[in-house]
Amino acid sequence: MIHSQGLRYRYPGGSELHFPDVQVPQGAVLLLSGPSGSGKSTWLAMVAALVAPAAGTLHVAGQDVTALRGAAADAWRAGAIGFLPQKLHLSEALTVQQNLAMAQWAAGQAEDTARIHSALAALGVAELVKRLPSQLSGGQAQRVALARAVLLKPQVLLADEPTASLDDESAAQAVSLLLSTAAQQGATLVIATHDARVAALVPPTSDGQIGFQRLSLSREQLSKA
Ligand code: ADP
Ligand code: MG
Repeated sequence: MIHSQGLRYRYPGGSELHFPDVQVPQGAVLLLSGPSGSGKSTWLAMVAALVAPAAGTLHVAGQDVTALRGAAADAWRAGAIGFLPQKLHLSEALTVQQNLAMAQWAAGQAEDTARIHSALAALGVAELVKRLPSQLSGGQAQRVALARAVLLKPQVLLADEPTASLDDESAAQAVSLLLSTAAQQGATLVIATHDARVAALVPPTSDGQIGFQRLSLSREQLSKA
């Protein structure tokens, strides 16, 4: 779940961003759209407790994240949040297996090879376990990064521009993988994107299915001084 009220963020020396309130139940999907610069990545960073809001309340997976700082924020994030960043941040010197093991170490857990293999297998990339990131195609690297993001069964999965620079078919596949992976784990999913194609790939809110929400940010709304 993600609940926010009166959320604001201020960049040093920059303008203050004001965000609309959200009520996203556990297991629901939020499509966070809006043009480049409208604050999507900033919102994700607040939800992940990577940065602290200037004002407002924010509860994520039952935690008041505005109360978290430093090591406490890091420990909470490692267990509660799965992040699929725009740049995948796979370590080039480590194999696929070692990249996933890093997520377990970061959460204070011992390396669990069986769990790593099953996470990769669920995304159809188990055979890539010994490869280096430089030996993966773009689509394979994204699947590996998604496997890493959901390895610890996070309650909330955040994807930042997951379809950037993908052709139509790969974009559809990426969104479908995100939806199915989140649904399988019961995770709340946020897809942040300026890609207009994604709206058609996420079930509409009006077709009777519960659990799908859309929130559109605009630069005008956010660039309040
Ligand atoms: P989006 O992800 O929707 O493209 P961002 O969250 O990256 O938007 O940025 C939102 C706004 O904050 C933009 O107007 C951007 O110029 C501003 N911004 C982003 N990063 C910084 C920064 N480090 N310092 C000052 N302003 C920033
Ligand atoms: Mg962004």
